[in-house]
Amino acid sequence: MTLLRWFGRKTFSHGVHPQTHKEETADKPIRRLPFAPRLIVPLAQHAGKPSRPIVKVGQEVLRGQLIAEADGFMSVPQHAPATGVVEAITLMPSAQGPRMLSIVIKVYAASSQEVLWRTPRDMHTLNAEQIVQAVQESGIVGLGGAAFPSHVKLKPPKEAVIETILVNGCECEPYLTTDHRVMIEQTDDLIRGIQYAMRVVNAKQAIIGVEDNKPEAIATLRNHLPTDGTIRVEALVTKYPQGSDRMLISSLLGREVPSGARSSSIGVLVNNVGTLAAMGRLLSRGEGLIERVITVAGPGVQRPGNYLVPIGTPLRFLLEQVGFSGGEQQVILGGPMMGNAIASLDVPITKGSSGVLVLSNNEIESETRTIHPCIKCGKCVAACPMHLNPTQLGMLARKREYDTMLEKFHLMDCIECGCCSFVCPSSIPLVQYFRIAKSIMRERAA
Ligand code: SF4
Ligand code: SF4
Repeated sequence: MTLLRWFGRKTFSHGVHPQTHKEETADKPIRRLPFAPRLIVPLAQHAGKPSRPIVKVGQEVLRGQLIAEADGFMSVPQHAPATGVVEAITLMPSAQGPRMLSIVIKVYAASSQEVLWRTPRDMHTLNAEQIVQAVQESGIVGLGGAAFPSHVKLKPPKEAVIETILVNGCECEPYLTTDHRVMIEQTDDLIRGIQYAMRVVNAKQAIIGVEDNKPEAIATLRNHLPTDGTIRVEALVTKYPQGSDRMLISSLLGREVPSGARSSSIGVLVNNVGTLAAMGRLLSRGEGLIERVITVAGPGVQRPGNYLVPIGTPLRFLLEQVGFSGGEQQVILGGPMMGNAIASLDVPITKGSSGVLVLSNNEIESETRTIHPCIKCGKCVAACPMHLNPTQLGMLARKREYDTMLEKFHLMDCIECGCCSFVCPSSIPLVQYFRIAKSIMRERAA
């Protein structure tokens, strides 16, 4: 237990304090973005197996209609984000790099915002198994960025006894205020979603962890809590990466998840606020996930804010709507610490996209800076929240000694938070090295 926990300020050890840059969007209410003329719905925008298309080219589809079904349990369906006609089912640019099979919908000019395809459910009558099925049918995935199918998360291994649901409202990435607005504007949906999740796994309590730089969200949530005491809100120290599952568990419960294990092994399930709010809103209506809230911000954006964006909206269209000055700037999907620079503005917004940032090259971590030799300052070791040795891992990565990284230096425990790169005075792109090393080791193991 850290000293801060002893003094009542809950947090984890190590981590960093980047400038938050949240002022320009934190107070901006969520606004709806119009439909782009074409929406690109990738079939593999979640962890697991891609969805299977069930529509044909030339077919008319209604907003909300099922257009691709889940391919097994580790998969989710896709729904039409707007009314229109299926123009193509073909390979299209994706944020991941390679082109991906996608359903392209030519949106009718008169497509309304009303969802025209839904199957309402009486949630009071559903048992745990039926709620899990409803979550899968809605195509809900982790909206914090991981895009892990939410129904799979709600089915922990049989031997696991889930006592606590931790609700991640930290949003520790600079610039992003999506979750902040969801907590303020979709509070009832969020509480309902938490209660559904608690019913499914039979959890006794839920704790919503929110960084203490969001007092309005904390106050709003506390005003909406049920009176039975099963859900509470805890303010956490504003520190990156407070919103990582492992850090949240450490900060709120003072417990560690064993290396290589899931949080369910210690009786905890972690879910993001946006994901649970989507469950609270969509399940009873019987609607699919067809839009999400996204923070669009950065010095290159003329009208920064939080926008409700149809899934499949091309980045180019989104940036035109918010005023994009172009030029020597980088477009980042996600936050500046863990997001990815995007090479093509033709890629679509997907269910896992939490933010779009337009930053100048100076504001982007190590990528554009000159790399110098390691001066053994130890700053990366002091910053690593997983208590790894990034100096040593970095030296091994340069020599491609991936086996040693794995066996002796716990490579797979790296959560790719980027704290090490952030503090490194030599601008060594440590986290990029570790991402590559991890993907090589995963490929070798497959
Ligand atoms: S990226 Fe990995 S090694 Fe670097 S600080 Fe984060 S957990 Fe530690
Ligand atoms: S922070 Fe950079 S320079 Fe310092 S020990 Fe780590 S890798 Fe070396």
